[in-house]
Amino acid sequence: MTEGRQDVDVVIVGAGFAGLYMLHRVRELGLTARVLEAGGDVGGTWYWNRYPGARCDVESMQYSYQFSDELQQEWEWSERYASQPEILSYLNHVTDRFGLRPDIQFDTRVTDAVFDDATRRWTVRTESGDALSAQFVIMATGCLSAANTPDIAGASSFTGPTYHTGRWPHAKVDFTGQRVGVIGTGSSAVQSIPVIAQEARDLVVFQRTATYSVPAWNGPLDPSEQKEIKAHYAAFRAANSQSFSAIGGTLPMSERQALEVSAEERQAEYAARWKEGGLSFLGSFSDLLFDPKANDTAAGYVRERIREIVRDPRTAEILCPDQVIGCKRMCVDTEYYATFNRQNVRLVDLRETPIEAVTPTGITTTATHYELDAIIYATGFDAMTGALLRINICGRDGVSLREAWAAGPHSYLGLGVVGFPNLFTITGPGSPSVLTNMIVSIEQHVDWISRCVAYLRQNAYQCIEATEAAQSEWVEYVNAIAGVTLFPTCNSWYLGANVPGKPRVFMPCPGFPPYAEQCQQVADGGYVGFALSQ
Ligand code: FAD
Ligand code: NAP
Repeated sequence: MTEGRQDVDVVIVGAGFAGLYMLHRVRELGLTARVLEAGGDVGGTWYWNRYPGARCDVESMQYSYQFSDELQQEWEWSERYASQPEILSYLNHVTDRFGLRPDIQFDTRVTDAVFDDATRRWTVRTESGDALSAQFVIMATGCLSAANTPDIAGASSFTGPTYHTGRWPHAKVDFTGQRVGVIGTGSSAVQSIPVIAQEARDLVVFQRTATYSVPAWNGPLDPSEQKEIKAHYAAFRAANSQSFSAIGGTLPMSERQALEVSAEERQAEYAARWKEGGLSFLGSFSDLLFDPKANDTAAGYVRERIREIVRDPRTAEILCPDQVIGCKRMCVDTEYYATFNRQNVRLVDLRETPIEAVTPTGITTTATHYELDAIIYATGFDAMTGALLRINICGRDGVSLREAWAAGPHSYLGLGVVGFPNLFTITGPGSPSVLTNMIVSIEQHVDWISRCVAYLRQNAYQCIEATEAAQSEWVEYVNAIAGVTLFPTCNSWYLGANVPGKPRVFMPCPGFPPYAEQCQQVADGGYVGFALSQ
């Protein structure tokens, strides 16, 4: 051990789904590891996002680990879409079941990770000034963990409490009798607004972009259905991983195109998917994310439902989105649109009357002033790159990741970056990540990294680093695939468009099955596209 500095084989940053499983795997390899986590306990997303109504939008039977059959057999989910407290208690169960806690250091924010060219080891520093030396650094820092709070004039002058959905207090927040403002209408807002509306005296929703949402029809999970899935869990998981987004369902992705069927057939398909609920709506036809005309038929169907549900025609029109459906992450809700029929809920169209400022007593738009007791920022995250770039990561020859990614993230497979030897990013930009059931993507990455580290050790390689050629080719490949989809057509966080000044680059790689196949081939070929050195 270097004096004053602890030596380990692997430092893992983050103790969410990714960091926990990564720790389990590296320990199985017999390596020493330390997980550094900024939060006060395990859970990641499910530790931080405690806002009312928070739950998964991938069904519980899929939104869970598959690496241990005993674990997936013994755990019982209570609802079709598990709530935040239930997912958090699942992750605590996993932590204790696999004895992971002793290797995790909480309340520890990593500030720097610096590669030493001479020793070919990383030095990882924390906010409290501690340092660790490691051969490998694995970033399990999360795609949606760096909260994004917009810089609105006067924000700090507000005298009431403010909350961000992604940094919600641990004690219950009671909005009874209060005038509450929610800024944003993405997934977090869509989940929390119906619940807060039941408590608040007045709820004012500040909407910049209307959102497409499909009902969750959440409810208790039928024990016989759970038993049936568990009877052939491995096959169920394998089949789901073969879909575009690694998400399965009773209504699989259709192979038909929207415009090759009659209007009646299209309507029937959308109606069936709406009745089923959830993200499988986008699987109604195979071309919805590729052909604007096909997409418009699905978008039109949702707009019809909004106009049907929301009684006030003007409010309904403001709630009707006009961008491509699926371009921004689609939401899955419980009574979202119907909440706007409540007497105590008002919708403010920020496109017509933008926010001018936050004042000590509320929010002023170009039209009026809204008196508020509390403000909720449901304004999302500096996604995919935010958590990584908030750390000073410095690679070979003193080059920082911030410099390397100044024009947007460049990686090979979303797993490694040129100039950063022995640094791995779980669900990094350039991998399917946020376009999938993320637990599937996380496990696929963790398994790949574990196998890679084992290979390096067995063959006495000290370093692995992506090559320039492989990385350039990969970046081109991801751009080419994204380019044939409709994803780049709106201001989504997939593109970094939600954070002022962030380079506009489509960050995830669409299509899980071909991606996983490619990763497998790279490993089978002895890590093709990576330079290995002794
Ligand atoms: P996280 O859970 O984000 O964990 C990363 C951890 O790293 C955090 O605890 C963070 O504190 C820590 N960290 C970051 N930087 C540092 C640092 N510098 N030092 C120390 N620690 C650090 N995905 C789905 O597939 N289906 C869903 O239904 C779904 N629902 C979601 C609901 C919400 C409200 C949100 C925000 C996201 C949701 N996601 C969903 C995406 C979700 O983030 C992933 O499914 C998954 O939980 C990510 O796990 P992770 O371990 O990769 O990252
Ligand atoms: P988000 O989707 O990025 O939504 C943020 C919202 O805030 C958007 O409506 C955005 O408007 C608005 N906004 C941002 N800055 C603003 C400003 N300056 N003024 C006014 N409005 C502003 O964030 P999120 O809702 O937290 O969700 C992020 C992702 O986390 C989701 O897409 C999903 O992947 C995941 N998630 C999943 C669930 C689930 O259902 N399981 C729940 C929560 C989160 P614009 O659209 O105009 O930018």
